[in-house]
Amino acid sequence: MLLSKLIETRRIDAELPPEIRAALVDSLFAPVLSLFVGALACSIIGATVAFSIGDAWIMAVSAAILLVGLLRVVSALLYKKANSGNPRLWERVYEYGAWGFSALIGLLCWLTVNGTTDASLQMIVTTTAAGYAATIAGRNAGRPSIALGQLTLCALPMAASLIVYPDLAHRALGLVVLMFIYGMIDITLSTRDVIIQALIMTRKEAALAARFEEQATRFDIALNNMSHGLCMLDEKDRLQVWNERFLELLNIKGAPVRVGIHISRLLRYCVQSGNSDARSLKTLFRQLALSFRRDRFDHVHISPDGKRTIAISRRLMSDGGAVVILEDVTERKNAQERIAHLAKYDDLTGLANRTQFHERIAGLLDAVDDKESQFAIHLIDLDRFKTVNDTLGHPIGDKLLKQVARRLGNLVGQSDTITRFGGDEFVILQTNVMRSQDASWLAQRISDEIGEPFDIEGQRIHIGASIGIALAPADGRNADELLKKADMALYSAKNTGRGSHCFFALEMEAAAQARRSLELDLREALAAGQFQLYYQPLVDLHTNRTTACEALLRWFHPKLGEVPPSIFIPVAEETGLIVPIGEWVLNRACTEAASWPRDITVAVNLSPMQFKDSALTLHVASALAKSGLPPRRLEVEITERVLLEECESTRRMMAELRELGVCISLDDFGTGYSSLNYLRKFPFYKIKIDQSFTRDLGQQHDARSIVEAIATLGAGLDKIVVAEGIETEQQMKMARAQGCHQGQGHFFGQPMSGAVIREWFAASAAARKQLVA
Ligand code: C2E
Ligand code: MG
Ligand code: MG
Repeated sequence: MLLSKLIETRRIDAELPPEIRAALVDSLFAPVLSLFVGALACSIIGATVAFSIGDAWIMAVSAAILLVGLLRVVSALLYKKANSGNPRLWERVYEYGAWGFSALIGLLCWLTVNGTTDASLQMIVTTTAAGYAATIAGRNAGRPSIALGQLTLCALPMAASLIVYPDLAHRALGLVVLMFIYGMIDITLSTRDVIIQALIMTRKEAALAARFEEQATRFDIALNNMSHGLCMLDEKDRLQVWNERFLELLNIKGAPVRVGIHISRLLRYCVQSGNSDARSLKTLFRQLALSFRRDRFDHVHISPDGKRTIAISRRLMSDGGAVVILEDVTERKNAQERIAHLAKYDDLTGLANRTQFHERIAGLLDAVDDKESQFAIHLIDLDRFKTVNDTLGHPIGDKLLKQVARRLGNLVGQSDTITRFGGDEFVILQTNVMRSQDASWLAQRISDEIGEPFDIEGQRIHIGASIGIALAPADGRNADELLKKADMALYSAKNTGRGSHCFFALEMEAAAQARRSLELDLREALAAGQFQLYYQPLVDLHTNRTTACEALLRWFHPKLGEVPPSIFIPVAEETGLIVPIGEWVLNRACTEAASWPRDITVAVNLSPMQFKDSALTLHVASALAKSGLPPRRLEVEITERVLLEECESTRRMMAELRELGVCISLDDFGTGYSSLNYLRKFPFYKIKIDQSFTRDLGQQHDARSIVEAIATLGAGLDKIVVAEGIETEQQMKMARAQGCHQGQGHFFGQPMSGAVIREWFAASAAARKQLVA
């Protein structure tokens, strides 16, 4: 049985995991002192026996016991120092030391029992050996091969020496020692099993503890990296678990928070940190505690400065405690407020937007029904805003709009509403309007105020405001209708002249209706062939010879008859129809002019809208190519309106036209800004003085001075100066006297159809021939 146990132990031992084996080797070397005490005690016993009986061999064995014992002590110390690396090697070292030591003890027994008959000496040696053997099982049971070897080497010589002793008592004791060996082997094997089990258990526990620690660390990391603040309270509102974010959100990061403190202590820390007003916090904490009876509690806490908003939620746990979660919702709340603000306010100026306008006007209209008071809608359009935006850039344009909003804000009463509909369109809802005069005064103040120059980033900016006014309830009983009426009034104000205001009048509705139907008809006119070009000669005031003819567009409406350009050209410009119509004019005029005498050029009017079409130069080149007209025989006439909306593309297009070889004339000079700067900046070939000055040439002195000044200026700048609208011989003579080079007007010839102008050329050629003959 013991044998099968031994075999089994050997098998299990071979399969032991290395770390268990290492732990067992560790246990071999562990009690260093006992090794030393054992060596010393055994060698003293040996030496005592040797001295008593004077045996040199026993003395030698005793010395060897001391030496081997000390070597074992040294090896144990070295093992500790080497920090237990290579357990197999150290096991061998221990094994040889232990076996050697045991064999020497066994030898001491043999020599003493056989060397003396002194029973007391025999007794101290055998009891020492037996005692030593007994400690082996306790000390080295973890490595049974070592322990069994030691037992055998120590106890077997002792048993043998007693059995061979010629005395029955000794023999009996020898047999007992043999039984003792058997018993010790059994105990060693059992102890070894217990040790192995204990080690395996310890190892499992250590692994479990490591895993638990790892999970705890992970949980800690997760907890402290949460964007939410979290704490757990027990059933008595005492703090159990919390994270850094929790303290951070309560702004008590440095406070001495520890497990078990009551929630009210947190409140004290919050108040002490001075981050929140005590009263609101007290209420909050009280609510938190009260909420304990409910399983849910949600609250939004806003710091007294209004800068931080924290959402607090508390949920009851099954054990009676609670989880409190804090979340910083400041950004979310701000975004929501911003969205809500954007829905009602204009982002740029902070003024009310169209939505709010409709809400407000609905309220006002209800009130109007009740009280019979009236209110006014001022629809404001900024003059020249687009030019500012295009030339100085959008950031300046935005700043200008903000300043306009500020100035408007200073003009209106508290019950009035200013809204921005987008772009440069502002609307003021003026309340408490007793008479239309009240609205007129406000409009005038708006015009004056906006007409004052603005200083933005070192730029002095001049704009103006055109205002259309509708009165409620007289002009309408709903927002859309009132806005439509104000828009008609605005149209009229713009036509009246910049910076003016107009009230809605019934005729405007009829005019707007007429404009709409004209617009519809105009869309058909080109395809229906209702346009014709007329030509009016420009005559050299000194030679009286025709130098050029201006192409003037005529629309023969099937029902209305001839519609003047002053009526339909603005509509064509507003609708963009001027672009295809202008292209048709260019083609027609060039084709017509190609059939004229070679020294006559043709002048074609181009509107600002056409300069917004990037294909303009292409259209001009194509008209020239198709007609075969040399570019030098084409003049294009532009007004200052084109230059007002001056931007880089206008300048580029004018340069391209010049490159083509086409001449550019400045039409109607004197009516717009008459900026002398334009004359210098742009490549004009001709300046055409507006007919309003020519008309007054005979009558008003200032008109004569103006014509003279422009003519002198033109001559100085090497430009040809043309006087438009010459109707009488006197006007012709005066224009010539003031220095104009050419003249145009009914005095020389009315605008004529293509066929008539050709006859005109033939007639004047014949007249010249006659004159020469
Ligand atoms: P504008 O370019 O200044 O043309 C001269 C205008 O003065 C023409 O009016 C002409 O008939 C008129 N006129 C010429 N001599 C006299 C005169 O002695 N007395 C008076 N009272 N008027 C005279 P119209 O043809 O009615 O054209 C008006 C404006 O319409 C033109 O002014 C021009 O700006 C625009 N326009 C005409 N045709 C076109 C065109 O094909 N394209 C564009 N974009 N504009 C055009
Ligand atoms: Mg013209
Ligand atoms: Mg003109």
